[in-house]
Amino acid sequence: MKSRKRVLITGAAGFLGSHLCDRFIKEGFHVIGMDNLITGDLRNIEHLFPLENFEFYNHDVSKFVYVAGDLDYILHFASPASPIDYLRIPIQTLKVGSLGIHNLLGLARSKKSRILIASTSEVYGDPTVNPQPEEYWGNVNPVGPRGVYDEAKRFQEAMTMAYHTFHGLETRIVRIFNTYGPRMRLNDGRVLPAFIGQALRGEDLTVFGDGSQTRSFCYVDDLVEGIYRLLFSDYSLPVNIGNPDEITIREFGEEIIKLTGTKQKMVYKDLPTDDPKQRRPDITKARTILGWEPKVNRAEGLKITCEYFKSLPEKEIKHKDFTYYNNK
Ligand code: UDP
Repeated sequence: MKSRKRVLITGAAGFLGSHLCDRFIKEGFHVIGMDNLITGDLRNIEHLFPLENFEFYNHDVSKFVYVAGDLDYILHFASPASPIDYLRIPIQTLKVGSLGIHNLLGLARSKKSRILIASTSEVYGDPTVNPQPEEYWGNVNPVGPRGVYDEAKRFQEAMTMAYHTFHGLETRIVRIFNTYGPRMRLNDGRVLPAFIGQALRGEDLTVFGDGSQTRSFCYVDDLVEGIYRLLFSDYSLPVNIGNPDEITIREFGEEIIKLTGTKQKMVYKDLPTDDPKQRRPDITKARTILGWEPKVNRAEGLKITCEYFKSLPEKEIKHKDFTYYNNK
């Protein structure tokens, strides 16, 4: 007799994937993690390896995906996700969002699994409406540097809806807004690890542009709760999950300076091409359909995250070059 429900989580060794593995293990699932470790790090899941209800496969989901046995659920979280990453590995980013999703949708169909895919607020591009509701179609430059990620994710949504409509597959789509917490890579180039890393190394904080652009940061535990609820809901259109507490990057820098007690200041650099000017989720759908809203405020979440970064080995904190050290 089958005792546990079985879930495949792609991108399992990444920031979000590893937290999802933890949550599904905690809920009593048999978790099959998959990752090609291009941006993931096995240290994020090494505590799960001794468990009998956890398996791990080092595999690139852009290639045919084989999993033995039944699969009740698939969560597709494999993808480079920070601007630095997808600028360095644009083709892999496009492949995992296109070939990868095709493989996983095919797998879901053959196993009769429900599949949830990780989409992103990047599908809204540089939005002209704020906050962004799910009905907003976005303002994306397909051939700009961010296009490789934005269009891969948009294609991924379209492909997922097509499998839902034409094959009757049970699908869920989460649009994830900026999320932070322990296990983010200190050198992934995103603003939060960048600022905290700079503060810990005694460097000035690099604000891109004049710092008036906004973001809304969600703590990882809140995000995982929203994803968990969405998977078990019966809603197949995209749902925004994020924290609507919007802040300018300049104010955010001031918060990090205060939190870390650094004596350094903010310095201003060029704004990257197509950098969105504003971003804030409209979470009406998550509230009404999932009964979800974020619980962890930024002060609390930043404190936990900062402690995590401080606990990393000294040489990692000092390693400020945005190169990959996992696979080299
Ligand atoms: N940013 C910054 N300094 C940095 C890194 C990023 O000012 O060292 C800015 C970036 O230009 C953007 C915002 O912070 O406006 C968030 O960038 P991030 O890379 O974290 O993610 P995004 O939300 O743009 O995908």
